[in-house]
Amino acid sequence: MRASLQIGRLLGIPIKIHISFLLILPLFALSFAFANATLLGFILGYGGLPIDTISKLILGLVAAMLFFVAVLLHELAHSYVAIRNGYKISGITLFLFGGVSEIESQPKEAPGEAFMAFVGPATSFAIGLAFFPLWLLLDSLSGLVWEIAAITAGLISFYNILLGGFNIIPAFPMDGGRVLRSVLARRMGFTRATRVAVQVGKLMAVAMAILGFLFFNPWLIFIALFIYIGAGEEERGTLVAQALEGLTVGQIMTAPVSTVSPRDSIADLLRRMMTEKHMGYPVVDGERLVGIITLQDAQKVPADQQSVVSVGSVMTPDVLTVSPDTPASEAIQVVSSNRIGRLVVMDQGRIAGIVSRSDLIHILEVRAAEQRAACRGSSGT
Ligand SMILES: [Zn+2]
Repeated sequence: MRASLQIGRLLGIPIKIHISFLLILPLFALSFAFANATLLGFILGYGGLPIDTISKLILGLVAAMLFFVAVLLHELAHSYVAIRNGYKISGITLFLFGGVSEIESQPKEAPGEAFMAFVGPATSFAIGLAFFPLWLLLDSLSGLVWEIAAITAGLISFYNILLGGFNIIPAFPMDGGRVLRSVLARRMGFTRATRVAVQVGKLMAVAMAILGFLFFNPWLIFIALFIYIGAGEEERGTLVAQALEGLTVGQIMTAPVSTVSPRDSIADLLRRMMTEKHMGYPVVDGERLVGIITLQDAQKVPADQQSVVSVGSVMTPDVLTVSPDTPASEAIQVVSSNRIGRLVVMDQGRIAGIVSRSDLIHILEVRAAEQRAACRGSSGT
């Protein structure tokens, strides 16, 4: 996820916070600090306590941070089971709506997906239920300190049960949607199961938005929008992985690749781009890959300086590389999440080829067209 800041590591997984999280944390803190409503016996904030505003704000902030620790535990549970199932986790990001575990390279059959999805809400329920007797106990004691402790335990219990409950809704992009998909996948195959779970998610989002408008509840509309967009993204991601199934970078890269030297001038580079019709070149010093240069980089140099400015001074020095065995679906993820045009393919320290974003998208379109044709063929007979 872009615009995220890494704050630490747990179980070897980078823990990141997204900028939207910095918006939601004070909102939660404010709501916990001043809320005085009671729901099902739970007091949902410190607003009714006979203490000053600063103390309420501090307590609100502490409760908000405890809530996000619980969200983090929910995500860690997903990630732990994912790692045990052989997936790679590139990070956990806390954002506006809680947390998200970035699971790399989702295989087609997604083994253990149902259990992996289930442990998140199960963790939230477990935390919520563990704090429930504590809340009952503290609530029966008198005195300001016990009252504060009781409200805190109650908030943890209430919101974790709510979080668990929200996530078992059987619709994408919630955890329950994944459980639904893997149950359906056994009967109708992975792609159709994904489509059904996505449709359920979208229908639920529409129903939620209608309720939100009927009851003038902006939160409900907001969450509905989140579910609708999330469901669509899930579908696209799965279809891309499906279309590129079995293809590796080695099969689609351009090889051999022509390279430029960091000492070449921009004028020389532009002449080569014209004759060879390439838009980007790896920059190689001797045998070593030192950067990448594209037409956009070259265009930043004014025309009267193109013969004196060297490739080395305007190239991008950090090159993202992949290996020929990298799955094509993973390569497309790398180019789109980093917003770059091409990846250099390295094989045992040597440049083996180059794969561009447009190559990948082209292959994706051809594959998708082939699959559509195959679908029509099989359903027609
Ligand atoms: Zn979850």
